[in-house]
Amino acid sequence: MIARVTIQSAIAFFITAALLNYGVACSAIGRRAETLQLVPAATGLALTVLAFWLAVTLIFGRIYCSSVCPLGALTDLATRLRPARRPFRYRRPLNAVRTIAFLSLTALLVCRVAIAAEWIEPFGLYATVVIALTSGRATLAAAIAAAVTAVIATMAYRRGRLFCNSLCPLSAPLGFIARRSAFHIDINTDRCTQCRRCVDACKAECIDIQDHVADMSRCVVCFNCLPVCPDDAIAYTLSRHNLSDPLMQKIKTLKTENKPSTPLACDNTSNSSATSSTTEISKPTAQEPEH
Ligand code: SF4
Ligand code: SF4
Ligand code: SF4
Repeated sequence: MIARVTIQSAIAFFITAALLNYGVACSAIGRRAETLQLVPAATGLALTVLAFWLAVTLIFGRIYCSSVCPLGALTDLATRLRPARRPFRYRRPLNAVRTIAFLSLTALLVCRVAIAAEWIEPFGLYATVVIALTSGRATLAAAIAAAVTAVIATMAYRRGRLFCNSLCPLSAPLGFIARRSAFHIDINTDRCTQCRRCVDACKAECIDIQDHVADMSRCVVCFNCLPVCPDDAIAYTLSRHNLSDPLMQKIKTLKTENKPSTPLACDNTSNSSATSSTTEISKPTAQEPEH
């Protein structure tokens, strides 16, 4: 987590330095970092950069959002101002909103509408805001930039990565790719005591502890949820933890199918001891099983 924050801060610093022409060396590094930005790469047909991010997102999830996007760094800065006692909680994804944002940006870019590159795509928006706010002139652009910054910072302060998972046009494509990323946040149901500390720490509001899943389409791979777990039950890993006890898997299946009257002893081929244990717990299934 420390390495991620260091990389994110360094990239945001150098990109800002390049935008402001601050120092030859800093600007040079910043301009290299700008070549990694997704939408400029897409509009410039930098296929190597696009292929790189496709592979990285497929393997590691939304590393781009946690480390490389300067607008993500800005939202994280505002989120850090939240009082520690104000926890996050799980929210449902706003898939329709982020899909509309993505389709709108695509249509505007195809039609070569300048506002798309300057005020809608995340890197262009960051660059426009930084340049407008540091120009020292009271222009309309500076006023809009101040308003946009205030909106993004307020959203981040109140709801963490809400902007990233609703209004940012890159949220939909990145989330679609990251949904089944190889490395992912995995919750061990055998260890989890449902203390909810990971939910409280998740600024993407994507950990559903009822179902023990983290929505990787919204997870920005910040690792905030890992150190807070007292039971070592949550991990960023390749493996997908399944309920270790086959009987628990059957109960979960029955819960999903909502068939409480179906006999639990569905494994008739198993040995007699297994059958007797399933019979013992089959009675309470009229109620909500707990695990
Ligand atoms: S969701 Fe958009 S604004 Fe947020 S970090 Fe990712 S690319 Fe940047
Ligand atoms: S699930 Fe964990 S790593 Fe992903 S956004 Fe939430 S806190 Fe960060
Ligand atoms: S912090 Fe750990 S034990 Fe608590 S709910 Fe999250 S995964 Fe479960």
